[in-house]
Amino acid sequence: MEVPGSEDRARRVARRTLEECNISGLPVEPTRIAKSKSQLLVQTGVDLGKEAYGVFSYHRGHFIILISAHCHTRSHRRFSLAHELGHFCLPNHLEAIFSTGPSHLTTNLSAADGDLEKEANFFASELLMPKWGVERILNGCAKGLDSILRISKTCESSLVSSAIRYANHVRRPTVILESDGSSISFATLSDKLWGASRFRGNRPRPGDAIPEGSPTALLGGQSGEVLARRTRAEVVSATKWFPDAPSDLLFNEEARGLGSYGKILTVLTAVD
Ligand SMILES: [Zn+2]
Repeated sequence: MEVPGSEDRARRVARRTLEECNISGLPVEPTRIAKSKSQLLVQTGVDLGKEAYGVFSYHRGHFIILISAHCHTRSHRRFSLAHELGHFCLPNHLEAIFSTGPSHLTTNLSAADGDLEKEANFFASELLMPKWGVERILNGCAKGLDSILRISKTCESSLVSSAIRYANHVRRPTVILESDGSSISFATLSDKLWGASRFRGNRPRPGDAIPEGSPTALLGGQSGEVLARRTRAEVVSATKWFPDAPSDLLFNEEARGLGSYGKILTVLTAVD
């Protein structure tokens, strides 16, 4: 049975939306999809204040999506529009959104909570980085940060959303972290790692400290390197990040500065 917040359903609806619009190449242009919906109007570059990235509203028979001028990058604008399209395309979203008022705000996409918001984010992820596209890009060989950079470039998606998509797709045990170099702000694990019993109870969580001396911590100590989008990489013992992990298990740790965003993306890939 399908439940609200179902990732599978959101991704399926996104792929069907691409099919209906005859889109089979990358990058996907969400504005093209919006234009194909006669009831939908989109306006970008609107001043919505600094808190809201997107607004979905209803007025006299039309659904209206407004995208904020404060979205800090083109990829952020694209994801915000794809997220709002999710509310338009996913079953039961319009009813749920407009049961409480004439408009709906999207504030912080990475911190989205609630089933509707999560489902719209999964839809946006699949719309911009569809399974067939990610498979084509990786072409059977996944290589940590390099692969994530390829997804980001080809799909015109942010590095963080590309990394989350990568972890969702890759077979090799992988951990994706966002941090300021001293504590974790976001963490996701590949299905393979999440399913491995030896990692149960070891999940890195927001607020956890970054291990001292790790490439991530060292990069975090150099704000100029973060701003210049530099990378630091090293093979480290898994126990550095997972205290109870087997002592012979190694991770390739790659830390990449995210520019003026000020954060660091860390990719931990299990070494054979
Ligand atoms: Zn939303």
